[in-house]
Amino acid sequence: MVRSEETVLSGTVIYGDDFDIVQGYVCLKDGIIKEVGEGRVDCDLEGIICPRFINAHTHLGDSVAKDPPFMDLRSLVGPGGFKHRVLARTARSHLVEGMRRSVLDMISTGTFGFLDFREGGPEGTGMLLEAIQGLDVVCSIMGRPDQGSTEIDDRCFGLGMSSTRDMPFDLAWEYVNYARSLGKGFAVHAGEAGKDDIEGALSLYPDFLIHMNKADRSDLEKVARREIPVVVCPRSNLFTGVGLPDIGSMMDLGITVAIGTDNVMLNSVNILEEMALISKYLLHDDRQVFKMCTLNGAKIAGIEKKTGSILEGKEGRVMVIDGSSNNMWGSTDPLASIVRRARPSDILAVF
Ligand SMILES: [Zn+2]
Repeated sequence: MVRSEETVLSGTVIYGDDFDIVQGYVCLKDGIIKEVGEGRVDCDLEGIICPRFINAHTHLGDSVAKDPPFMDLRSLVGPGGFKHRVLARTARSHLVEGMRRSVLDMISTGTFGFLDFREGGPEGTGMLLEAIQGLDVVCSIMGRPDQGSTEIDDRCFGLGMSSTRDMPFDLAWEYVNYARSLGKGFAVHAGEAGKDDIEGALSLYPDFLIHMNKADRSDLEKVARREIPVVVCPRSNLFTGVGLPDIGSMMDLGITVAIGTDNVMLNSVNILEEMALISKYLLHDDRQVFKMCTLNGAKIAGIEKKTGSILEGKEGRVMVIDGSSNNMWGSTDPLASIVRRARPSDILAVF
């Protein structure tokens, strides 16, 4: 769709920061939501109009190592593990192609923004930027310094650390301080394989934490007091058998929760699948689950003022879902149906 054209979308609008259901229309012009109104109008496309997703935690780099045998976390992604062996013997061009394919898959499954943990220092950052060339996505790279250096590439959104367990605390502190001195953010995996790295992670004052499936109520209380958002990745946790996050307690405590699909080698980047699992198994609150993939993801990426919901003046990062597809027909609650059953083939268009 050419951005300078005016596009009118009509039908059921998932409107505003509370995701209210409104029968009406959305007018897009120059990539901005120009007008939202109630009632029927002549339109270019009809369906359920909702904000597109933000995938708050990915590792696109392992797109070339999809669907390994089932194994424990350490054998899979630990030093010298399956992932690193495959990446070490793969050609650069193939790695870039893999990342590009995953970004294209994100776009076709409704996602426009993502935060990727990228290894390999400036070279790794450059590869991802090459992979997304010409694609209309918002990519926030959580980079890592090169070995033997604390420097983080200026093109990165922030520093992404595997776990405080993987390095001496002093070194982790040095990395974080350096990133902070450049005005960069910082995020770290914590409470995934065990809860022993949660204290270390908290003492580095992260901008957000990844996983926290092993966190108990008292860990989550500390996270809530410090107002640190958490990105949960339940399908990844299922594969690695580390247990699932207590999202109910996170909600009770007022923690901002976002959703990531984690390593592409384990799970597709399709956020719809992550939402269905969370809604049915971990949190019976479709509105909150939808918020995790939209507005909360935008908050973590620092773009919630211009994306994450359908409001006049925000960027027109919306999609239209076919409410009368064989899968969606008969829905009694469009928001619940998007969260619990929508498939990529139900998406009529993304803007
Ligand atoms: Zn991860």
